[in-house]
This record gives sequence, C-alpha cells and structure tokens, in this order.
Amino acid sequence: MTIMLYCPNCRDQFEDWVKKCPDCQIKLVDRLLETKKENEPLVNLTTAPNEGIAVMWSDILKDNGVRSLIKNAAMNIYVQTYGSPYELYVLEPDIEKAKKILEPFLEQGQ
Ligand SMILES: [Zn+2]
Repeated sequence: MTIMLYCPNCRDQFEDWVKKCPDCQIKLVDRLLETKKENEPLVNLTTAPNEGIAVMWSDILKDNGVRSLIKNAAMNIYVQTYGSPYELYVLEPDIEKAKKILEPFLEQGQ
C-alpha cells in the first residue's frame, strides 16, 4: 500500500517519496490536520536563518509533540535555498508551547 502525503496548503496528494509540494514549496504531511483541529489556523512561530536550522527546530518540536510546517520565505522564486530564511508555522493552540520549547534555541540563534 502506498502512503499518500498531502500538501497542507493546496491539499494536493503525492506518493510518500515526495517531500515538498512543487507549487507551495512546503513540507508534505502524512494526513490532513486532525479533525478536531481542522479549524485551527496556522500561525507564524519564528523565522530560521536557513533550512538546516528550520528542520532542526521542527524536529525538536516534533519530539515534544508539536507539529510544525516549514515555509521557504523566498517561495515562488527560483534561487539557491542555502542561507535563505525559513519560516516555521504551528497551529495556533500550540504556539505558546512551541515558543517555550524553542526558547533556548531562539536566543542562541540571534
Ligand atoms: Zn501545495
């Protein structure tokens, strides 16, 4: 059985070897937002200086049970991604928890 991944933005579906939506340039997720949180808006958590740090912060959040999405702030522009800022998004109810988790890292990175 092929696991389908979804773009949380445009909701297109992809086989699971695709990691990013080609239109939105954001990370695909393994299911659409859980029903009970379907109406919770995504909110901007912070901006990471590059993709490596964005992915690291996202992993830290995941380890703490907070789902997040990464958006290339330079989306829709064909540029080398190295060094371009990446924005992290979490669901609104998770934002305070997410900020607390990332607090030590955010202070370090700035
Ligand atoms: Zn998309």
